[in-house]
Amino acid sequence: MKRYLERKLKKIAYERIDILMSLAEEEAKKGNWERSKRYVYLARRIAMKMRIRFPKKWKRRICKKCGTFLLYGKNARVRVKSKRYPHVVITCLECGAIYRIPMIREKKEKRRKKLEEKLKSKKKENIK
Ligand code: ZN
Repeated sequence: MKRYLERKLKKIAYERIDILMSLAEEEAKKGNWERSKRYVYLARRIAMKMRIRFPKKWKRRICKKCGTFLLYGKNARVRVKSKRYPHVVITCLECGAIYRIPMIREKKEKRRKKLEEKLKSKKKENIK
């Protein structure tokens, strides 16, 4: 019974976070940064209190440092870098915080495809 209740509460929390973040995006687009920040703050607080992960959909849209909703191309810079390892760099133009997101999954997929092609060509050679 307790677990059931907990699940239900978490579901409500996720719904509330989603609503708050949608509002934060709307306000950010309108230029109401203070209100947008407030929504982000509330959404993060719910996640913390309920001990749930911040939804993936929104995770990269906020600056963890200053709590600003990030509008890519407006108050956040997004760059794809491939030096050393492929990654995306998101810079918050509000406070200058930098977030690096490695693209390991993409890399693994590429490696797997390469391997598959290699195996295929080998098979062909064997047939010959
Ligand atoms: Zn920031």
